[in-house]
Amino acid sequence: MINISDIEDIHPEELTKKIVDLDKEDIENILQIPNKNSKLSKCPLCGSSQLFDYCNKNKFNISKCSDCDFGFVNPYPSNEQLSVYYNGKAKDVENEVFLKTKCTRMKIFEERVSRILNHIKNGKLLDIGGSLGFFVESLKNTDIKPTVVDLNASGCKAFADKFPDVPMYNQDFMVHDGKYNIVTLWDSLEHLPSIEKVIAKLNELVKDDGYLFMSTPNVKSFEQFVAGNDHPQVCPPSHVNYFNCDNLKKWFSNNGFDVIETITPNGSFDVAFVKKLIESNSVDNSKLGLFLKEFLKNDIFATNFADSLSKSCLGGNVIIVAKKKRDKNL
Ligand SMILES: [Zn+2]
Repeated sequence: MINISDIEDIHPEELTKKIVDLDKEDIENILQIPNKNSKLSKCPLCGSSQLFDYCNKNKFNISKCSDCDFGFVNPYPSNEQLSVYYNGKAKDVENEVFLKTKCTRMKIFEERVSRILNHIKNGKLLDIGGSLGFFVESLKNTDIKPTVVDLNASGCKAFADKFPDVPMYNQDFMVHDGKYNIVTLWDSLEHLPSIEKVIAKLNELVKDDGYLFMSTPNVKSFEQFVAGNDHPQVCPPSHVNYFNCDNLKKWFSNNGFDVIETITPNGSFDVAFVKKLIESNSVDNSKLGLFLKEFLKNDIFATNFADSLSKSCLGGNVIIVAKKKRDKNL
């Protein structure tokens, strides 16, 4: 069970500030690299041409689709820009934070493993973006055999030292070959440009009747509604895609997967995040409402409200469990 107090452990204040400063430097550096990607005129998630420029943050433009509400950095950053970004200074400190907050984060990964075991007990698994190895460590008492692919070179090196027997590829998963019973993307999909190519690649990587488990920030959530574009997860070029529960579900269903579960399990994180905004006097009362501002101080109300967010799919992080449809031509 993840508690409201756990959010403090996951985001230690001083290091988080350091990441923000280094991130600014990294962004300035990658803005010097030319980007040949052109601005898209159709939504890469649903194909609609009803796009509008939604906001500009960190000097990147975010477009939104009026039909499915998907947001994305438009134009997408180039692969070269992203490769430099993911090996920048901020990433190393971010890895340091992850290692320092391992204890709390492991609880999240253990819940994810239990969720997988509810559906499938053994087989080959590809974890996309998992070089820190917390998830692989959580799998140790199962019959699931992991392989990891990740762009971050220092993370991959540390992983190889720690798990010499687990196959690890320091590469873009788009060039990875293989067929797996399970593919996992824990907080990875929001980082991947050219989302239409990503779904085609996921279809290749997951075997028929195999499973895909993923998590990503949910834009249509309590914490993102209250914080708006100031929310730290509105952070191009790190996050290039901005999903919600509905458009994700539709996207997978229209592209070769049966969606079995769509949940936002940690409404408590939303409540903790908003309580911090209230305490630091940086909350927009018109978005939060005075009633909630007052009664979120009450622990019983806060706990029940968090539970209600989870049950209504309005928590800040969505998990999707999907099963690959059998190839109709076979
Ligand atoms: Zn759309």
